Amino acid sequence: MEMDKDRLWKYYQLMEQITDMTCRLEDFDREEFVNLLSQFCELFRIAKGVTEFYTNRRNEAEKKGEILVDFDNGRGEIPVIYRRVSPPSGVVIIGTLYMAKDDEPLSDEEKEKVDMVYRLLMSFIARNRLQRTVLQFAFTDEDGFANRRSMMNFIDEKIVKGEQYGNIAACINLKNFNAINQEVGRKKGDYILRSVYEYLKNEIGEDGHISRLGGDNFILFFRNELRDKILESFSGIPVEYDPVEHKKIIVSARAGVFVVTKETELTVPGQIMERIYPAVQIARQSGQDIVFYDGKIIEMREHVAKVRKDFARGLEKKEIVAFYQPKVDVNTGKIVGAEALCRWFRNGQTVMPMEFIPILERSMDICRLDFFMFETVCADIRRWLDEGRTVPRISVNFSRKHLNNPDLLGRILEIINRYEIRRKYLEIELTETTTDVEFNQLNRIVTGLHREGISASVDDFGNGYSSLNLIRSIPWDVIKIDRSLLPTDSDNEEGITNRMYSHVVSMATDIGLKCITEGVETKRQVDILRKNNCPVAQGFYFDKPLPAETFEKLLEGTPYRDKI
Ligand code: C2E
Ligand code: MG
Ligand code: MG
Repeated sequence: MEMDKDRLWKYYQLMEQITDMTCRLEDFDREEFVNLLSQFCELFRIAKGVTEFYTNRRNEAEKKGEILVDFDNGRGEIPVIYRRVSPPSGVVIIGTLYMAKDDEPLSDEEKEKVDMVYRLLMSFIARNRLQRTVLQFAFTDEDGFANRRSMMNFIDEKIVKGEQYGNIAACINLKNFNAINQEVGRKKGDYILRSVYEYLKNEIGEDGHISRLGGDNFILFFRNELRDKILESFSGIPVEYDPVEHKKIIVSARAGVFVVTKETELTVPGQIMERIYPAVQIARQSGQDIVFYDGKIIEMREHVAKVRKDFARGLEKKEIVAFYQPKVDVNTGKIVGAEALCRWFRNGQTVMPMEFIPILERSMDICRLDFFMFETVCADIRRWLDEGRTVPRISVNFSRKHLNNPDLLGRILEIINRYEIRRKYLEIELTETTTDVEFNQLNRIVTGLHREGISASVDDFGNGYSSLNLIRSIPWDVIKIDRSLLPTDSDNEEGITNRMYSHVVSMATDIGLKCITEGVETKRQVDILRKNNCPVAQGFYFDKPLPAETFEKLLEGTPYRDKI
């Protein structure tokens, strides 16, 4: 069709407006764009315009991109003009214009003009999309989570608007995420990570922001009003990771938290990171669930670093030694076993386990300690046997940190064999676990020990999450009842504490476990054990943990006969 004067005039007008629009990329107005586009299409009988946008050629081949219909009057059937743009970035943009079958085809002159305008529009769309892609890359990580930069930006905007106060910043790390990954596999692990992120994002709402720092670490920024709700959610976020088999998991997190108040004078986003990051590190190292940032945190951090450094040297210099606390038969007063407990002689002082074990447990250092203790115990047993002493079974504590070591059993056996000791002389104490994943690992380890003829005991039963199920489905040999379940002298004999204790002992005995009660401090408590048929006691009433040379002297006689 020939371009008459009116159409030409309209064409030049449109061209000017489009050129103008393409120069103003910043204030892109979708309505204006659509309006100009429809006028242009109408002028040239174009029925449909489609843009495809792919971030690279592979995505193009796989058709993984954005396909946008820019204009469509429902009649477009025949492609008339096709353009493909691949800017140096590798991004691919394809545009196609369609006409209706029964409309008059474009004349050469028209084609040339359409091409002209289309070129302009395409370059505009390309720039617009590219800008979005750049933003997307800048503010999301490779897995599509909002990244650290997006958080910095968010906080910065709050600061600029003077809205930073009355908020809470938190850095969280998911507990046992490595174990979860191992258990469910990488793909489902990724899905769990995404679900936790979406869950928290939803809780935080529009007024706040969540971003990923990498791995299983996230930063959160949210209104103070949500404090309880969100901090509580850290102790358990339910995720259904297998919708077919309805498999669920509860994911929990440790957090370092900073409350942004007027007094804290927050002027740059970086200050937030300087506070929440060390706080979460301390939470991880000390085993606490939530650590709030305050001035003391730095001191604590230095303390933790010092303990870890000194510990490495302490092991080498043999500053760490095994003490033995006797386990006593409450009917005969005989020593029927002992628990090995570590003591650290550092700068002329005895450091108790509670002062350094929680710190070591935040890294793999605890495993070095446990193997060191295990080896020391094996060496002592070997020596006692060589000296012709009667040696009872010695139990050694193993931290939960060993649970995902596939070679734990192998190493234990290797040490036992090296000292040529019979397995009946040893027992491994492990504490209960709270998560399903740990439960499976614990079951694997205890089953392995059982198979190899090494006793395993549940330590501190009744202190925390005790579940009958856990006790019943793992092949434990011994249950160590925590002192928190043992009635004290001031408890009423018919009272609830006595009844609970009695119930636990009979339940454990019924399922075939040997019972021992920890923390026995008085003669009356020994009577309670005897009355309830708990055959073995461990506690200060008989002896505190003793140095090896004191303990070994007790092995011959019946030192506690007069105490029962
Ligand atoms: P645990 O395994 O439950 O050990 C029993 C703790 O109770 C010991 O504390 C012991 O001294 C204390 N105790 C014993 N009888 C009584 C009593 O009558 N009254 C009171 N109040 N306490 C009593 P200890 O030696 O300070 O050890 C504390 C914890 O540190 C242990 O608790 C254990 O969890 C951990 N631990 C000690 N040595 C090691 C080790 O070599 N490896 C690992 N992983 N943990 C260890
Ligand atoms: Mg123990
Ligand atoms: Mg215990």
